[in-house]
Amino acid sequence: MRLPCLLGLACLCVPHILAAQQTRAERTDYAETSSHADVLGFVDSLQRLGAGIRVGRLGLSPQGRVIPYIIAARPLVDAPARAARTGKPVIYLQANIHAGEVEGKEAALMLLRDLTLGSLKPLLDSVVLVVVPIYNADGNDAFGPETRNRPGQKGPASVGLRANGQGFDLNRDYLKQEAPETRAAAGLINAWDPDLFIDLHTTDGSYHGYVLTYDAGLNPNSSPANDYIRDKFLPEVRLRMRARHKQEVFSYGNFRNADPDSLILGWETYDPRPRFGTNWTGLRGRMSILSEAYSHVDFRTRVDATYNFVLEILRLAAAEKATIKSLNLATSRYRPDSVAVRSTLAPPTPMDVIAEITTRDAEGSGPFSRRRQTGVFKTIRMPVFDRFEAARKEVIPAAYLLAPQYSEVAALLRAQGIEVRRLGGAWSGAVEQFQVDSLIVESLFEGHRGIRLEGRWGPGTVSAVPGWFMVNTDQPLGLFAAYLLEPASEDGLATWNFFDRVLRRGQPAPVLRARSPVPVPSEMLP
Ligand SMILES: [Zn+2]
Repeated sequence: MRLPCLLGLACLCVPHILAAQQTRAERTDYAETSSHADVLGFVDSLQRLGAGIRVGRLGLSPQGRVIPYIIAARPLVDAPARAARTGKPVIYLQANIHAGEVEGKEAALMLLRDLTLGSLKPLLDSVVLVVVPIYNADGNDAFGPETRNRPGQKGPASVGLRANGQGFDLNRDYLKQEAPETRAAAGLINAWDPDLFIDLHTTDGSYHGYVLTYDAGLNPNSSPANDYIRDKFLPEVRLRMRARHKQEVFSYGNFRNADPDSLILGWETYDPRPRFGTNWTGLRGRMSILSEAYSHVDFRTRVDATYNFVLEILRLAAAEKATIKSLNLATSRYRPDSVAVRSTLAPPTPMDVIAEITTRDAEGSGPFSRRRQTGVFKTIRMPVFDRFEAARKEVIPAAYLLAPQYSEVAALLRAQGIEVRRLGGAWSGAVEQFQVDSLIVESLFEGHRGIRLEGRWGPGTVSAVPGWFMVNTDQPLGLFAAYLLEPASEDGLATWNFFDRVLRRGQPAPVLRARSPVPVPSEMLP
């Protein structure tokens, strides 16, 4: 592949330029990972080498670090509307949300280089890439010994912290949006409306035989888009990883057994709630992929596996761009009549899972690290629990109504990209109200005590004055809005304490449902 030569010399100079253009991981033979300054320097040098990228500023971290995002496409697009007009899938690639999990950042930088200056260039003819290589910039630079920040991970010796600069786990913040990183990323995502969201992590769970495990969105409010990624796209990527890279990957999970000597009880995925980025994306009707490199293989192998996995995703997305665009469009138009607000594991499917046999060991800490690896792998047929189904459903009304004092709720819904309107006139009519039967307060998490409401909808009336908020569900994010606003939702606004001051046992919750459109003029909130 011929590469641009900036020096005006024959292209013999190119290998030297590329050799100089290495990540810190490559330069140190995988002894170290990139700092925030390294990442900015690397991206800067790609630009200087004529990579044809656009570098933007996602926002500032709590400790004042610039969080960059990079647009890469051929021809380059500089605005979301232009990206949409190309008809190519927009792919959002995010690394480093948990900053001790470092290989995604390295792999994302290497891919950016190889896609813009190297042999992968033709791929950028078919996709538009938005890359956030160092999402948790503060966590990244809180370097410390791996034995403390990522116990059990196989290199590099010094890595950053999981939490952001304020102590938030950014991959639990997608609904409540308390961290500036989350709000900034939601703004970018609302603007670019990516067809596919990829979130790069490292897992330190069970001992298994895969260099990387993956998942689609797990919320039971699945969609044609999410079903496609889970049932067609990811299994194909799995085959390609085996055929082209000799790397085994599988659906994310951990062995169910408390006693790892017996592995036959099954393999189980994690959590369906949309506080997690890939579940949030799935619930919003877009495709998403969680990538979890395996903590118990060395750093170089993890970077390699993550690089190959993302590369195969990009290749398949390029080949399947028409399918991806049409399924996302169909999902935007999809208007289900009910929303799953509680979930439970769906029945399992028997599958072969590769386990590493381990023996008891008094050393180490944590549920998985008290085992000694043997290097012996065994393929075992077992039940695989890889998805969730509804445990409770609610009817989706024409609209939800909220009194004017809930402006914080309205602001959060707007920040989530949901259309919120204000009534321009008074309206009295029949609504449904949610009677609270019981209220369970969960344990403390990031300054919140989660609220779990039991209760039921019943008939009521309202006299709404001008200024009441209204959320019509006939909008692309209508299902997502219903999930957030339903009081019994397992990860909604009530869960995250937005209604704490007014919730009482035996009283109605403040969110009202109108089963028919509210016949009053209204104005969209900016
Ligand atoms: Zn993680």
